[in-house]
Amino acid sequence: MGFPKFKSKHRSRKSYTTNVVNGNIQVEDHRIKLPKLKWIRMKKHRDIPAEYCLKSVTISMEPSGKYYASLLYEKTDCENQAEEFDYENTKILGIDYAMHGMAVFSEDIQKENEGYFRKSEERLAREQRKLSHCVKGSNNYYRQKKRVALCHEKIRNQRKDFLHKLSHEIAEAYDVVAVEDIDMKAMSQCMHFGKSIMDNGYGKFRELLEYKLTRRGKKLVRVDRFFPSSKKCCKCGNIKKELKLSDRVYLCTCGNRIDRDLNAAINIREEARRMLLAG
Ligand SMILES: [Zn+2]
Repeated sequence: MGFPKFKSKHRSRKSYTTNVVNGNIQVEDHRIKLPKLKWIRMKKHRDIPAEYCLKSVTISMEPSGKYYASLLYEKTDCENQAEEFDYENTKILGIDYAMHGMAVFSEDIQKENEGYFRKSEERLAREQRKLSHCVKGSNNYYRQKKRVALCHEKIRNQRKDFLHKLSHEIAEAYDVVAVEDIDMKAMSQCMHFGKSIMDNGYGKFRELLEYKLTRRGKKLVRVDRFFPSSKKCCKCGNIKKELKLSDRVYLCTCGNRIDRDLNAAINIREEARRMLLAG
């Protein structure tokens, strides 16, 4: 009776979602009451401002056996938030996708990504090595397997947490965020980068950004994928005929010398401003 039970034993991640109807779900600081269950102790990971109300709860069980409740809150007066922007002076953030480090921003944003997950990843590698030395089917093997699962879970949570914090900060600080309209899935397939491109979290990051912006009555603008964000000079507007992927610095005859990705991010920002002004 204590914890939720899941019907399928085969899916590695078990979860279900319950919508809030007539106060069937109650949340306090250290406990939660779900339909058909008694109060359950919980650890809350962030505080919710008073103007947000609970919409739904997704309960999941990780392979390690831990339970998570993901609470979806919505701002109660979202509808009244949308107002006209003065796009000439709007604070727009341009974002350029980067294979390494996920993204480059047109403005100075503190991004403590580097080394953030390294410790956990080293630990994972160590535990995986140990697992490979265990006799399959032995008690040690299962114990070690659980340790590996816990490591994976920790990294997943750290990633998620990092993306939430970063997108939250951006959505608070900027009125509009501009990104390239790229299809991550298609890109990783056609460029044969395989999984790595998906795993750097950019797709998820964009998704989080969009919903956090929308919730605040703000906007995510998608710039056409054929817009020459990399080839254009952000100072004079000249467009280079050729720019190799290996050219990390953008050099222009006008004297502009700038990091290639930063140049692209600024171009994406200004293209979004042009689109918004054009209506
Ligand atoms: Zn130039």
